[in-house]
Amino acid sequence: MWNESFRQHLSKRPTCKGNLQWNTHKEEQRGFVWRATLNCDNCNFISKKYKLYKEVQTTKKGPKPAAINYGMQVGLSQVSMGSSGLRKILLSGNIPAPSTKGMQNSANKVNEKIEIQNVADMADIRTELKTINKMRGHPESHIDVEGDGCYNNPLYSGIGKTPFQPATQSCYVVVENMTDKKLVINLVTKINCAVMERIIREDLIGRFALDLSQRCHAEYKSALKHCDGNFQTFKRKLSHTVDAIILCYQSKHCICKRNSFVCKGIEDPWINKSIYLPKTFKLNLTLKQQSELRKCINYRLGPKELERTKLGTNTQKSECVNRIIRRSLPRSNTFSKNFQGRANSAVSSANHGPGESVMALCLSVGAPVTAGSKVHTHLQQEQKIYENHKQYKKLAKYMKNRKQKAKAKFDLYSKNQEVNKYEKGMLLKSQKNIRQKLADTARGDHEAYTKKAKKIIG
Ligand SMILES: [Zn+2]
Ligand SMILES: [Zn+2]
Repeated sequence: MWNESFRQHLSKRPTCKGNLQWNTHKEEQRGFVWRATLNCDNCNFISKKYKLYKEVQTTKKGPKPAAINYGMQVGLSQVSMGSSGLRKILLSGNIPAPSTKGMQNSANKVNEKIEIQNVADMADIRTELKTINKMRGHPESHIDVEGDGCYNNPLYSGIGKTPFQPATQSCYVVVENMTDKKLVINLVTKINCAVMERIIREDLIGRFALDLSQRCHAEYKSALKHCDGNFQTFKRKLSHTVDAIILCYQSKHCICKRNSFVCKGIEDPWINKSIYLPKTFKLNLTLKQQSELRKCINYRLGPKELERTKLGTNTQKSECVNRIIRRSLPRSNTFSKNFQGRANSAVSSANHGPGESVMALCLSVGAPVTAGSKVHTHLQQEQKIYENHKQYKKLAKYMKNRKQKAKAKFDLYSKNQEVNKYEKGMLLKSQKNIRQKLADTARGDHEAYTKKAKKIIG
């Protein structure tokens, strides 16, 4: 730019002795970067406009977007900050920030591309798993998966008002269980699924399903603590627990004391701890229904399942994925427009690690990180740290450490339960009133009945 302008100035005004300088009146901001011209401090020479950035190659007409503007949006999609947050940081550092509208525009475009890229990437992973199955001689489409959902507003934030506040945004991730990488192979995002959520959650069956899942998890955790890591004892004890749970939901606590880890029998049954079900909840099951229920419980606590979740890596991955999604989609912000893009970006980060993911996504939006550059080295370093950490997590020493942490967490969980009980009291207050009324009417009926009986006898 400078050399070219010098030459032009010299050929156009051979006699001028002036110096070239930045033309501050004619600079033009493009997000994070500028288009600038030079002028002479002596004559009226003005150079042509120079772009001080790399462009993204697009097929569309009009000025091409700057790569840095797209690259920055890739980064933003993997942290819990939005455009306005970044603007604040820049402005407080006395750095001219791009306009909110401009950033929003590039965010929309980039997130669209991220979604396309990650969806294709997950499809590739699924194809790969099918190939593995083929080589192992298993049916191709039989892929062991584990799913987990997360919602963008806490379900119980409406306590006292509406017991089950519907989620405005929700993600459901499907994690494969075939390799020890535990890759995310599908992601379902939903916005404003309020109606569906309400139907599911207000329905007692839905609540029972939630409670059952929580119960299984509680039994699992508690048993783990109880058996102190001895897997054989753990497995044997839990096989009896399955029977206890089935009877317990039918209000038969005869074997709870012996075989359940969370129900203390008739004096302090599990149902008192349940945050989903009323205390009076009771199932009347036919033999067929009992075996259906057993299947459900075995899905989590059955010997096969336990063998597979032996090291506890299973639930841990989903938690880990959820944590990464939380980072891209914090509860405090509602990214209505770019919700899908951000969730997909998070999944990409979970699947490939922080460095690789950023490089792949930057490439896919047309703003590649230059190979061999300092930025490239730094991203590689970050990736290495992440991989070392992952390796370290698999070591025995760390496993033991984590078990202790799990124990501590469990204690915390029990403490929380007490708080939950209190919340539940508030939650069910109105229901209690209804129940009281029902009981009253029943008593009324009873009195009428006694009168009738007396008449007959009398
Ligand atoms: Zn001049
Ligand atoms: Zn019980």
